Amino acid sequence: MRRAAMLAILGLVLTTCIVASACGEKNANADVAVQFASASPAASASAPAPIKDQTSIPPPQLVLSTLTVPQGGAILVSVVGSVTGGSIGFLGRTYQLAQGAKSMYSFVGVAPEDPVGPAKVAVQFTMTNGTKGTLVDDVTVEKTQWTVDSLEFNGETEQLADPKVLAADQDKLQGIYRRATPKKLWDGPWQMPVDGKITAKFGEQRSVDGGPVSGHHPGSDIGVAVGTDVRAPNSGTVSFTGQLQAYGNVIVIDHGGGLYSTFGHLSEIGVHEGQAVKTGDIIGKSGNTGLSTGPHLHWEMAIDGVLIDATKLVDGTDGV
Ligand SMILES: [Zn+2]
Repeated sequence: MRRAAMLAILGLVLTTCIVASACGEKNANADVAVQFASASPAASASAPAPIKDQTSIPPPQLVLSTLTVPQGGAILVSVVGSVTGGSIGFLGRTYQLAQGAKSMYSFVGVAPEDPVGPAKVAVQFTMTNGTKGTLVDDVTVEKTQWTVDSLEFNGETEQLADPKVLAADQDKLQGIYRRATPKKLWDGPWQMPVDGKITAKFGEQRSVDGGPVSGHHPGSDIGVAVGTDVRAPNSGTVSFTGQLQAYGNVIVIDHGGGLYSTFGHLSEIGVHEGQAVKTGDIIGKSGNTGLSTGPHLHWEMAIDGVLIDATKLVDGTDGV
């Protein structure tokens, strides 16, 4: 057996630190802001395998922010060690590892339509000495009970309620969401872009003008008066500003590693494409433009095109 091939197989049994706290101490090198208290029994069984590599570089560790994730949630996956790159396979999608402050990482998302039950997070990595390997962990996707709302549109909004109009906007946004910057641009805790009541949750299903219940609301609606300051929920680079038909005036912030925030129905756009923003910077003003039945801010987030519940990043659980 060729040495490279054997090392690749060894990679399958490399030490696996499933949840940071399960390793007996806080893993200060992971890009995980939240440490979970519940230790996994599997962690104690995963003693480091002997490495026959002469270079004596310790094997990388896989650190997940959670082992259970709801539909519409996300897992922050960190690979800690001398790793130069790699990818994560999860629910049939592939995410490239991005360079974090202390590890290589990516969020992985669970779409509202993804199946519940067991799933695998599989990381293919390359170490600094060229060794390749795989780390795998089991997680569980849990069901989310989606809320249902009835919407009535009339006049101008009725035309915009055409599913084709929304689909065209979402195609445009998906084109942006799938351009992953290979570097972490967000830093530290997330904050709400405006203070207000959530008037329509992420994933909500809707009946329009008495029609059948369908689809999932791609973001969270926050009820605020027209002209309210909208603040960056975290650091990043403005990747798009402009007007879409259903979303109205829009700002998209790239948080790096394929993670994006989008703000819709704005009355004013206060930033330009390519501008760097920090957490809390005022980026524009909320409004009622596009397909909107009252003043509110629509905030949506995507990971490599998978829409997730943005409010779950703000509550301290890192998207879980
Ligand atoms: Zn909305």
